[in-house]
Amino acid sequence: MAIAALAAFGGLGVGMLCYNLVLWLTIRERFQLTYCLSLLAMLTYVWASSGAMVQVFPDIAHTYRLATAYIMLGFASALSLQFITDFIEEDCLPPALRRMARQFGIVYVLAGLGVALAAPDWRHFADRLYALAYVPLPVLLVSLTTIAWRRGSRSIRVLAVAWALPLLMALLRIAHALNLVEYGLLVQYALIIGMSFEAVLSSLAMSYRIKLITAERDRARADERAARQLANVDSLTGLLNRRALLELLIAWRSPEPLRLLLVDIDRFKSVNDSHGHLVGDEVLRAVAEVLAIRADLNASVARLGGEEFALIGAAAELPEAVALGIIADIRSRPMAAGVRVTVSVGMAEGPVRGEDDWRELYRRADAALYQAKSDGRNRAVHAPGAPPLPANTAAA
Ligand code: GH3
Ligand code: MG
Ligand code: MG
Repeated sequence: MAIAALAAFGGLGVGMLCYNLVLWLTIRERFQLTYCLSLLAMLTYVWASSGAMVQVFPDIAHTYRLATAYIMLGFASALSLQFITDFIEEDCLPPALRRMARQFGIVYVLAGLGVALAAPDWRHFADRLYALAYVPLPVLLVSLTTIAWRRGSRSIRVLAVAWALPLLMALLRIAHALNLVEYGLLVQYALIIGMSFEAVLSSLAMSYRIKLITAERDRARADERAARQLANVDSLTGLLNRRALLELLIAWRSPEPLRLLLVDIDRFKSVNDSHGHLVGDEVLRAVAEVLAIRADLNASVARLGGEEFALIGAAAELPEAVALGIIADIRSRPMAAGVRVTVSVGMAEGPVRGEDDWRELYRRADAALYQAKSDGRNRAVHAPGAPPLPANTAAA
């Protein structure tokens, strides 16, 4: 029966250890590692103190076995304390309390080593010291739990549930020591039952904590994405803004020639002057909508600023006819307050191998736009050096 119980606990412990180690490798939260180490120390302690160690090393001296048990219990206590402080959320535990828990841990390791290494004459004394070192532990644990609980730690709540049964089992052992409870199977296996439940429930508690951490990370990622999106989008029209377009262009190294269309609303100032800025804004949105529809999926559209827009795409997928379509659509579309506007378009194309090429392409498209304005607006002009546009290009 004893062997079966021990084997079950050992199997469970090793399983938990592997499971949490794998989890630690993927999630990299420190509490998982300290948990695994504390579990390892606990398993070794049970292995040494239960006599299972003798099965493996039949000739081992009793003192060595005892020494192993003392050292391992010291480490298990220290690592369990470290696990609790790692597990509780950063802002739910004062740094002084974290430090104190670590110092207690060091004392337990040293006390365990003290008993293990003490000369036979001193062993009894070292053992007394060892036991004394554990006296303030309940106070420390209660303080840790209460403070973290009061500060709203969710982790300590789940941990408290996980540790309630092992604590009950420990109380049962104490009650038995005080002759309050008869010695029975429950008392005999109290420690193993308690530790088994602790192992399973702590794992569940960690899964819950990981769920919280993952949710936190997801939220942070979504916020970051939203912030990046906000930084790249023109808030009035929903198109890319100048900054986003430049980023796109710098990253876009195309061996194929690209075509750039600069679109500027004609005499837009007079729309604002006659109808007010709100109507002006509506007109900007309507123009943006036409550009987005015309660009379809073949080009990127941006609002460069004011009433100037840009379309950029592979020359093969953004034919010059698109410019004519844009001019025709905008001219025929009634906008807010019955306003009608026209646009002028400057066009240029060429291969883009670096930033200098971009600058040159933009300069040529801008010169063509300037030409379209000087020629009377409401038309598209091609940068010199490119094939002439169809006869109806000047859409005036
Ligand atoms: P042109 O045909 O030569 O392009 O003349 P224009 O009046 O369109 O050009 P100009 O550069 O003189 O005026 C642009 C106007 O665009 C001036 C400014 O008030 C207006 N504008 C710039 N940004 C916004 C905006 O976000 N909303 C509104 N409503 N108007 C804007
Ligand atoms: Mg204008
Ligand atoms: Mg302008």
